[in-house]
Amino acid sequence: MSYKNFKVETGSDGVAVVIWDMPGKSMNLIDQSVMAEMDSIIDMVAGDDAIKGAVITSGKEAFSGGADLSMLQGSFADFQKMKASDPEGAATRLFEGVSQLQVIYRKLETCGKPFVAAINGVAMGGSTELALACHGRVLSDNPKTKLGLPEVKVGLFPGAGGTQRLPRLIHTQEALQMLLLGKSYDAAKAKKLGLVDEVVPVDQLVDTARKLIVDGLSAVKPWDEKGFKIPAGPVYSKAGAQLFPPANAIYRRETFDNYPGARAIMKCVYEGLLLPIDTALKVESRYFANVLQSTEAGMMIRTLFLSLQELNKGARRPAEIAPTSIKKVGILGGGGFMGAGIGYVTAKGGINVVLLDRDDEAAEKGRAHSAELEDKAISRGRSTPEKKEELLSLIETTADYSAISDCDLVIEAVFEDSGVKKTVTEEAAKHMKDDAIFASNTSTIPITSLAENFPRQTDFVGIHFFSPVDRMMLTEIIKGKKTGDQALATALDFVRQIKKTPIVVNDTRGFYINRMVLRYMSEAYNMLIEGVPAAMIENVAKMAGMPVGPLALNDETAIDLSHKILHQTIRDIGEKAVDMRHVELIDAMVEKHGRLGRKNGKGFYDYPAKPAKKYIWPGLKDLYPQLDADTISVQELKDRFHAVIALEAARCVEENVVTDMREADVGSILGFGFAPFTGGAISYIDGMGTSAFVTLCKNLQKKYGEQFKPNKELLEMAKTNQSFYARYETDDPTKRAA
Ligand code: NAD
Repeated sequence: MSYKNFKVETGSDGVAVVIWDMPGKSMNLIDQSVMAEMDSIIDMVAGDDAIKGAVITSGKEAFSGGADLSMLQGSFADFQKMKASDPEGAATRLFEGVSQLQVIYRKLETCGKPFVAAINGVAMGGSTELALACHGRVLSDNPKTKLGLPEVKVGLFPGAGGTQRLPRLIHTQEALQMLLLGKSYDAAKAKKLGLVDEVVPVDQLVDTARKLIVDGLSAVKPWDEKGFKIPAGPVYSKAGAQLFPPANAIYRRETFDNYPGARAIMKCVYEGLLLPIDTALKVESRYFANVLQSTEAGMMIRTLFLSLQELNKGARRPAEIAPTSIKKVGILGGGGFMGAGIGYVTAKGGINVVLLDRDDEAAEKGRAHSAELEDKAISRGRSTPEKKEELLSLIETTADYSAISDCDLVIEAVFEDSGVKKTVTEEAAKHMKDDAIFASNTSTIPITSLAENFPRQTDFVGIHFFSPVDRMMLTEIIKGKKTGDQALATALDFVRQIKKTPIVVNDTRGFYINRMVLRYMSEAYNMLIEGVPAAMIENVAKMAGMPVGPLALNDETAIDLSHKILHQTIRDIGEKAVDMRHVELIDAMVEKHGRLGRKNGKGFYDYPAKPAKKYIWPGLKDLYPQLDADTISVQELKDRFHAVIALEAARCVEENVVTDMREADVGSILGFGFAPFTGGAISYIDGMGTSAFVTLCKNLQKKYGEQFKPNKELLEMAKTNQSFYARYETDDPTKRAA
């Protein structure tokens, strides 16, 4: 029999080698046709007396990326459609749909013939679960080979037996970590954990797997044998009692119970280990069907998987422009904080870099930064001395503009001063190639005005990086009024080459991300001024899903910078543009108490010498009369953080700053960690509905002020509870094309 997605070759030793190689795809994924064919291959192997067992391997560079998530979205969409007319039928169909893969894997596990997974390259999600269902696992020692269950990162959890087989195979604590953190492990770590039987060079992979079968590998899994013992001991045992209560506490500390997928993992493992495997698998499927219906899973799949992938593949790139390959990039101010970081990520993308600064010594600082980052990576086993040398060899340092004459792209990252920017832009323009693109990394100055310093304004664009550049995955590409498609396409191609995620926004003060960040920090100022204890502000922000509290974040970005921005705004637009209570707070912090932020060890926190940890500055509570924490609503504080940021995102949509909802959401999560379980700032609003959001905002506005005043477009949408995604799918296309 022949298959579309698999090739099966049975050797004279009676071992069938099943090669998974989906036509027309770069990566194997599990979809309906793969499931159907897997099912019939299992029947074929089980039913053919001449076959002793089967090896499953891949014909591609990687093993598999796991389940096709759009298929899951489809199941959920069908469920939603059917729910109104036949709720019970819809629930049954969803349950059957989501347990389909699990049922096939259980059939493989109990078919009476041994199966061995032979894995080279990445095996993620449902394909790692396939390996767990097999009777043996052999991995290649290729550094790219990885096993992982990342479902929790998109709001789900492994629902094809992963939560049951893993803690029956390895220690429950290790299993919980792998499941809850969505971590992936290389071959050595997988072997150490007991996840795999053998690790061998890739050319011995299939033969080793074959040999396991020829040597008589059992076709009965340990958990199907009588007297099976859970590796870490039963739930109700001394070991279990030592494991689950702290695991639950850690789970709460890390997630604040915001993620239904993570919660379900805890429940599946705990409840499942009390049951025989077949019943335990049913428990897993029930939770899976339940989680799949949650708003969080729906939003997270859309933003953190589908949209993210689309943006990374260049969804916003002008299609008519031929692909550009950037070979050399010049960085003006390359010895500075941002310039050095941009230099590093550019070289890491294999691109030649010229770091240009005021003098050689300043420029050399940029190269030293790359060396330092590589040394850190080497000490963590993530790089090698050879790779470091290779990377450094791509970086040239200079103060001489002639060195940028063959650069395809020049990025300016000098002081945030329009005069300095004008000087360096004009000087660079004299030396650049006629078709090279110029980009500015400014964080506050409008791109349209900076472009006036460059003779070809259509070739001028903003590429806004976030700090620390090597760790922040987002870049904001800013289109000035005259930015042309070639500049936009080149910026997007460059960002793709350095493996970051781009969002394309229109020119405005603060662009998109920083407008939300400023709202987050200024709402914390409001809370401080009201007398909310600082520790409560920080903790509630984390409970709301933010990775860093607003006061800690302000310490990182520097309080004297906030001071500078507030006073600059007063000079530019007047006192009405700022909240004078905020100015008083920041003036007191900087001018009276010398608290500049982390950089001088004194901010909203005190920073004692390591290893001591930072703690909130005790003097903070003396600035304002303190409220009793027990009288403050935690939910209301959480709502204030979410709403004030989401509302700013909605304003950016109305003002045409951000024009694509995917970018609005992905940007908010990757740019500063807006509560990932919501699916992003816009999905947060859509998740509750625009009507409910407007009601929430109006209530907060009455109590806390104008920062919660819903904008016009939102009020209009709320009348019919229209969602942003629905509105912008069909909206005026000229508005969507930033
Ligand atoms: P920085 O002071 O660390 O670096 C500026 C660099 O520019 C210095 O090395 C300086 O020597 C060099 N420079 C100044 N004048 C020059 C000249 N005439 N010719 C050549 N080099 C010159 O500043 P930074 O924090 O890296 O900021 C740089 C830019 O990046 C600013 O526009 C800033 O707004 C933007 N930005 C900063 C951050 C951040 O978190 N710091 C984030 C995003 C964007």
